[in-house]
Amino acid sequence: MTETVAIQIDHRFVKPYYEGYQHIPESLSPALRNLKTEGVYIDLMTPEGVFIARGYHGHQNKGYGWVFTQDASVYLTIEFLRQLFSDAIGKRQKLFQDEETTAFRLFNGEGDRLGGVTVDLYNDCALVQWYSLGIYEHRELILDALEAVYPVKAIYQKKRFCEGGKYMDADDFVRGERIEFPILVKENGVVFNIDLNDGPMTGVFLDQREVREQIREQYSKGKTMLNAFSYTGAFSVYAALGGADKTTSVDLAKRSLPMTIAQFSANGIDFEAQEIRVMDVFNYFDYALKHALTYDLVVLDPPSFARSKKRVFSVQKDYVKLLEQALQLTNDNGVIVASTNYSGFDMKKFKQFIKRAFHNQHATYKILETYTQPEDFPYDANFKESQYLKVVFIKKLS
Ligand code: SAH
Repeated sequence: MTETVAIQIDHRFVKPYYEGYQHIPESLSPALRNLKTEGVYIDLMTPEGVFIARGYHGHQNKGYGWVFTQDASVYLTIEFLRQLFSDAIGKRQKLFQDEETTAFRLFNGEGDRLGGVTVDLYNDCALVQWYSLGIYEHRELILDALEAVYPVKAIYQKKRFCEGGKYMDADDFVRGERIEFPILVKENGVVFNIDLNDGPMTGVFLDQREVREQIREQYSKGKTMLNAFSYTGAFSVYAALGGADKTTSVDLAKRSLPMTIAQFSANGIDFEAQEIRVMDVFNYFDYALKHALTYDLVVLDPPSFARSKKRVFSVQKDYVKLLEQALQLTNDNGVIVASTNYSGFDMKKFKQFIKRAFHNQHATYKILETYTQPEDFPYDANFKESQYLKVVFIKKLS
């Protein structure tokens, strides 16, 4: 039996939790700091001792856990979890029926009303990601519930929390039939090689599906493209399929080369007609500037933080600089697709970065369109960090 700890909270915090607020920050009560065991239930109570809502304890970033119900009779039982998953599946019927898209998110943590866990489908394989030891303690029932509502052939997992200083498992297989990777999945008819048992990433970031499609449909025909921080080149593949004259993919990771070749080849694109560079994006910018290389379409999709041999990059501190450098390689009337998945600032702040970069470079621009997460990555409107994805299509005017 999972233990339950009652925590009284100040009057001024009561209303949001009655109304469904899910996140439990440290500032909610000093008593949270005394919690020792992750996974225990937290019953939030009024100062008078009346039940408000129930959550579980799990350290995730600065949070202490997530509320999952306002009903005092509800715990993380198989019945409750099954209902959560069936609701999530119900909301995604369009994707389940779309034969051209076989990889997408089935369950998105707090956006689907249980923070700390996500489930992605790659054909009939599920990838479960655990964001705290607290939710991981409930894993057996969560996996039982998933299997009960959807026929998956295999379940793999990623632990996104630090367990005794150890982050990654050597083997991410958990249940079902072992799969031989890579497998081929489809997204908007585009094929991707996927490996669910090869480190923290799978080969594609599913939350950019709509952005990729828009690049293929509206921004590629007859254009030259620079894809910075390209990983397996997903944006380049879409651009090539959309009729780009040429794509250039730049990523520091050695593995990005064979992986990008594989993604192009899976889609019948001659990779030799494309350029793939294994190098630091900032060095590539210098190189391109020196050789007067410019582009019609520039995609910038950096990680939130990265440490390379020479420098530390942080989206928060360095995005303006990154944009300024990209601007110098962008043709007039060209388009920069600026993307970040950093949850520490919102779209408003991101647009200020864009404004500052263009201002610094004495350039003018027009924002053509913006994207956030697609509908299979719902966010909790009360918890703004859950709307992490920000993508802005910017036309450089002069
Ligand atoms: N745009 C990609 C995802 C990018 S993930 C996609 O659509 O799939 C971030 C990538 O940035 C990683 O592959 C990492 O290897 C790369 N990276 C981090 N720092 C870099 C740098 N300084 N130069 C080039 N690549 C970098």
